[in-house]
Amino acid sequence: MKPSESPNPALRITLIYLAFALGWILLSDWLLNLFVEGPRLLTALQTFKDLFYVFITALGLFALLHLGYRQLAQSELTLRLFIENAPAALAMLDRDLHHIAISRRWMSDYGLEDRNIIGTHHYAIFPEVPERWREVHRRALAGEVLRADCDCFERPDGRVQWVRWEVRPWHRPNGDIGGIIIFSEDISHLKEAEREMRIAATAFESQQSMLITDHKGQILRVNRAFSATTGYSAAEVMGQTPAILKSGRHDAAFYREMWESIASEHAWQGEIWNRRKNGEIYPEWLNIAAVTDNDGAITNYVGSFLDLSQHKQAEAKIHSLSYYDVLTNLPNRRLLLDRLQQALLSSRRTGQHGAILFIDIDDFSAINDTQGHDVGDKTLIEIARRLLACVHGDDSVARPGGDEFIVIVENLGKTSAQALLDARQVAERIQTAIRQPLFIDGSEYAIRASIGISLFEGVTGTVEDIMKRADVSMRQVKRLGRDHIQFFDDQMQEALEQRVRLESQLRRAIPEQLLLHYQIQRDRQGAPRGAEALVRWHQPEEGLISPAAFIPLAEDSGLILPLGAWVLETASRQLNDWTRDFGAQDFSIAVNISAKQFYQEDFVEQVLRLLASSGADPQRLKLELTESILLEDVDAVARKMTRLKSEGLRFSLDDFGTGFSSLAYLRRLPLDELKIDQSFVRDLRHDSNDAAIVRTIIALGETLGLEVIAEGVETQEQLDYLTEHGCQGFQGYLFGKPVTASDFAATYLRRH
Ligand code: C2E
Ligand code: MG
Ligand code: MG
Repeated sequence: MKPSESPNPALRITLIYLAFALGWILLSDWLLNLFVEGPRLLTALQTFKDLFYVFITALGLFALLHLGYRQLAQSELTLRLFIENAPAALAMLDRDLHHIAISRRWMSDYGLEDRNIIGTHHYAIFPEVPERWREVHRRALAGEVLRADCDCFERPDGRVQWVRWEVRPWHRPNGDIGGIIIFSEDISHLKEAEREMRIAATAFESQQSMLITDHKGQILRVNRAFSATTGYSAAEVMGQTPAILKSGRHDAAFYREMWESIASEHAWQGEIWNRRKNGEIYPEWLNIAAVTDNDGAITNYVGSFLDLSQHKQAEAKIHSLSYYDVLTNLPNRRLLLDRLQQALLSSRRTGQHGAILFIDIDDFSAINDTQGHDVGDKTLIEIARRLLACVHGDDSVARPGGDEFIVIVENLGKTSAQALLDARQVAERIQTAIRQPLFIDGSEYAIRASIGISLFEGVTGTVEDIMKRADVSMRQVKRLGRDHIQFFDDQMQEALEQRVRLESQLRRAIPEQLLLHYQIQRDRQGAPRGAEALVRWHQPEEGLISPAAFIPLAEDSGLILPLGAWVLETASRQLNDWTRDFGAQDFSIAVNISAKQFYQEDFVEQVLRLLASSGADPQRLKLELTESILLEDVDAVARKMTRLKSEGLRFSLDDFGTGFSSLAYLRRLPLDELKIDQSFVRDLRHDSNDAAIVRTIIALGETLGLEVIAEGVETQEQLDYLTEHGCQGFQGYLFGKPVTASDFAATYLRRH
């Protein structure tokens, strides 16, 4: 029952007074009747005094009754208020577990505020009471006192409620058990707080390193991750400030800005370098948050940070996994694409050729199947190692998958001919390296590889296109099998094969299949003044081969040295013969000298020796050099020329106008003659530009005191123009094609 339902004590007392007053009036009325109707009795009670005593006695009795009642009411009220207002949930039940008294806290704790449960059975109110509690009630009714510090039960609404309880019997004055008293306390909020603390503690021990300081920055707590990262134990840093982690890499301004941000925003985050206990400096991502109290004053700082060095290592690991082949550690297909892209860009920029070599291990699946994957793996690892040893640092070796390897070779020169040869050389080197016996676990294996080569130079088109081509090529290589090397581009393949064939033929041809043709040179009066010796290769099957076809090959392969020596020797002997036989005054033979030949250390000695042995007059020998000779040290070139000139030899600068010699260089060379290139002569009458060049060369010759001769003169018109402008010498089909020595002598030389 609620206190508000009990009657007002003042009202109750007034009612009691009124009842007594009414009683007194009734008694007086009765006494008056007695007086009127029974004089005998009146006599017995005659005196008013007696009546007064009766009245006093009645009044006293009434007062006593009233006081007793008031006291009883008061104590009952106190008890009720005590129970109702007890700061605990209390319920008093009778033996049948009907509610007798309940504290207000009980009502509120169990959500019963609006109900009157006095007299109601406990289980009617709480049908969900579990059996174990019913047992507790039974045992309490039997006299036991039972309690639990932490217990839980599920409320009808599904919410789990945590309670602390005590159930004990209450006794009547005679000692009998009148029922039970249940005390319970809702401790859900405590449990919640405890849970939150546990979560906080777990969170604190997270992967992130954390530290908590007081408002002055003194460290109060650190977690295990902090110790693992910094190397400092909790005990070591307690009471210190985070300044012990300073790396010295940041200046005062950095920390000032950081603290300004914390003061204004109550937070800061950023990358910072700190120092571990072992002195190692590492990057970390630091988060600082200020904790404030209700008044907004900062009470603590919480710092959490992530060691970025681990992060970066992980990143590197991920990078490595995604770009490198795990077995061989070579770039995988993805990185290969990247490298190829760079190689193409670089080739486009520099004009240098590059090559992609597709390497397929012959019958690798057989090794794998018969010897097991372990041997297969070891083979691949060893091949990777050998490939790396075969290439330069700039070149890439990749393993796009399986038994396939790809090598990208860069900077193979600006001519495809050269690139072909070089790429082939690399491929041969690789094949040789792979052929070396391979020992795995005591057994020897013979490994062979087939290689396909594809050249690239400033290729436009995407890497994907090239890789598509590469895939096709790889399949081709697999078909090749058996230790082959092949170029994929048919034309290149053809060119290379021809070149290689020619080179070996030329090697065998020197000097037997060589001969010299001579082409007449005339002066302004039309008199013979000399001949240019032009080499010919007489190939048994193919006939005469033009020097334009084999001189560059001879230069690349170094064959130009024996060839050049033979030409010099033959021309010298011819000169000697003709001088002896015809004795022509001022007749000279011009011999072409390639730059490589001229650069030989002993070139001067060679020439002098040949001249001496042939007996030819050095003054009648003219050496034709081209401007390419000026690519090297001009002074050294000039010294050699001077040395030979001192023996009487003369020099002509061949193909003049097509090269890049500057006037300054020309002045330093002891030349005798400039030979206007035939390309300028050819279009002399139609191209005013060429005509201007020709005139300029002639003028230049005059200025430098050099003779000027024009080659490729084919028409009278050209001859007239050249003569008109002061050219002194002429050579060309107009006067005669290059012919054999005997034909030359018969046609141009007169016996004296
Ligand atoms: P070059 O030294 O400029 O020789 C002139 C070339 O022009 C010769 O070609 C000659 O046959 C050709 N020619 C001469 N007059 C005319 C003409 O009126 N019209 C046309 N269209 N061509 C004419 P050839 O003999 O094929 O020689 C080509 C080049 O081979 C020579 O150019 C020279 O650079 C090189 N060469 C020839 N023989 C030797 C040699 O013994 N040693 C070296 N190192 N190079 C040589
Ligand atoms: Mg020449
Ligand atoms: Mg020439």
